Amino acid sequence: MSCYKGKYHDELIATASYIGTPGKGILAADESTGTMGKRLSSINVENVESNRQAFRELLFTTPGALQYLCGVILFEETLYQKTAAGKPFVEVLKEGGVVPGIKVDKGVVELAGTNGETTTQGLDGLGQRCAKYYEAGARFAKWRAVLKIGPTEPSPLAIMENANGLARYAIICQENGLVPIVEPEILVDGPHDINKCADVTERVLAAVYKALNDHHVLLEGTLLKPNMVTPGSEAPKVAPEVVAECTVRALQRTMPAAVPAVVFLSGGQSEEEATINLNAMNKLKTKKPWTLTFSFGRALQASTLKAWLGKPENVHKAQAAFLTRCKANSEATLGTYQGSGKLSEGAAESLHVKDYKY
Ligand code: 13P
Repeated sequence: MSCYKGKYHDELIATASYIGTPGKGILAADESTGTMGKRLSSINVENVESNRQAFRELLFTTPGALQYLCGVILFEETLYQKTAAGKPFVEVLKEGGVVPGIKVDKGVVELAGTNGETTTQGLDGLGQRCAKYYEAGARFAKWRAVLKIGPTEPSPLAIMENANGLARYAIICQENGLVPIVEPEILVDGPHDINKCADVTERVLAAVYKALNDHHVLLEGTLLKPNMVTPGSEAPKVAPEVVAECTVRALQRTMPAAVPAVVFLSGGQSEEEATINLNAMNKLKTKKPWTLTFSFGRALQASTLKAWLGKPENVHKAQAAFLTRCKANSEATLGTYQGSGKLSEGAAESLHVKDYKY
């Protein structure tokens, strides 16, 4: 049997290709309540719904920011929230030309018999949840699979299990009208060099595309959210041009041209580092049949959070920081980012957290 041809076929292709519009990217604001708690506690703000709502409202209503975005990934709570003035967030985004998306995975659990490798949960009842989220206005989804680099990791079991989970998730999303963002994140943790990361990224992506094909996923109606190919967090850094070359080569070797866009995660890079690496990829003169853009979480929000500190009087300053990052990353998708003279507080700071849980 060939790939998905159901009732959402054309809509999936249209949504995915819109998300691949050059100059625009995705804000990943889908932190679970627990993860949001960690973010808020870093600025001494209590993790209650009103504070989570206030921070998300600050982001989504930043004047001028939505022009640089094509999508925002939401956590379930946020999908149903409104602005203080009573306008549903989904409407705010849609009016700004931004597609609402939804995180649908339920986090990771350890794979027995492995050295701390994991599989992602959330397939049970996923079809019903996707249908409900579509009703509420979501048009794409995210599922994060996590792999790690170690002496014998990722194991064949972890690669196969996570590729299969991503493929099963992807086809369930498509059957319910949501474009699946396929996210096999290879964690940056470790002392390995960039070649090791490139090798593992290629192996994982090859397995993921084999599984997507086996599960009859319509590739034109999907997006890939990979890690950039970089040295491990405990190894010396390399120039952005090297990251760009290794990352694009890994994609060329494994990623079908049928997929419209690659939406990178930031994975603990500093805000500025993530932007500069993305810019270097878009400057690279080589075969690139997909849009290369961003779906950053930490690298779009860190300096904004720091500027806000939970205080209404800081909202304008925080929104200015957010606008700066959105604009910078938009330019990076075009390869025209010039770097910033003066960085906002925190923009150069590493956002790496060991064994990061989203
Ligand atoms: P970071 O950009 O913070 O890595 O997160 C993006 C994301 O959505 C991970 O699932």
